[in-house]
Amino acid sequence: MNSKPKYSLVIPIYNEEETLAELYWRISTVMEQMDGSVELILINDGSRDRSLELLRELHEKDPRICYLSLARNFGHQIAVTAGLNFSRGQVVVIMDGDLQDPPELIVDMVEQWRLGYQVVYAQRTQRRQEGWFKRLPAYMYYRILRHLADVDIPIDTGDFCLMDRCVVDVLNAMPERNRYIRGLRAWIGFKQTAVKFERDPRFAGDVKYTFRKSFTLGMNGLVSFSKVPLRLSIYLGLFAAFVSVSMAFLVLYWRLFSPGSALTGLTIVIMAIFFLGAVQLVSIGILGQYVGRIYEEVKGRPLYTLAEVAGFDRNRS
Ligand code: UDP
Ligand code: MG
Repeated sequence: MNSKPKYSLVIPIYNEEETLAELYWRISTVMEQMDGSVELILINDGSRDRSLELLRELHEKDPRICYLSLARNFGHQIAVTAGLNFSRGQVVVIMDGDLQDPPELIVDMVEQWRLGYQVVYAQRTQRRQEGWFKRLPAYMYYRILRHLADVDIPIDTGDFCLMDRCVVDVLNAMPERNRYIRGLRAWIGFKQTAVKFERDPRFAGDVKYTFRKSFTLGMNGLVSFSKVPLRLSIYLGLFAAFVSVSMAFLVLYWRLFSPGSALTGLTIVIMAIFFLGAVQLVSIGILGQYVGRIYEEVKGRPLYTLAEVAGFDRNRS
């Protein structure tokens, strides 16, 4: 590639050896339909299977394929960030590597971009063949987040999207490490629109987002975009204060007017201790979520370490 490509496709890869061939095949069909040059950026996020070898082979076969290999598993959001940092296209598309995001939709997204939208995100209307234990929490989470977040994060959208260079540049300039890309994307603004699609089942292999990873991502979204949980501690505290004052009066009443009552004894003391203990621990826990993130940010470590880079050299300064 001698000049800058028009389109960059950024795809994180974590143990996807079974899908890579099919992914390449589907994407190359789409690339044929595009009206400009395309660079395909695959990011190996510390895969433990043959993914990296397959990426090397693909790069040998097709010069449009560039790849980055992170030195260990840094997680989906960081892998995508690395890809965005290296992307050069005027238009950048982020998608998953498991073919749950149909590459064919890119053509529709580009059409919207031509109409003047700088961000075109894919919004799922249906998640085929994903169990209720994934769908229900996801359904609830997006709705809660929408209520609590300072910015308007569209519901049922993932990271599958198209972004104009001006948006990618802002995203790349954001130093924060607890990255919730779909939130940051909404925060940046510009003209945004949705393209609806039905989410296909994974082409092959297991889900790489373990419950823990999904939970961390969810927490990142909430904590990065809302201060409401902090206020929750105040409400909890006020509620506890209200309960303690009422109890004080009640206990005094029992003490004076019904001396035989069992409630004046140890029971009530123990209950009060547990109740107040719980309120305090919950509040400290919420605070901890925010403080922990401040700590992470302050350390200022790089977001990722690169072990291998191929395909970009000719044009990078
Ligand atoms: N992924 C990654 N690093 C991780 C976990 C996932 O790069 O630590 C990639 C994975 O290869 C896939 C995408 O992120 O391309 C989405 O992962 P997955 O399909 O497991 O998540 P889900 O579809 O359930 O959101
Ligand atoms: Mg998936």
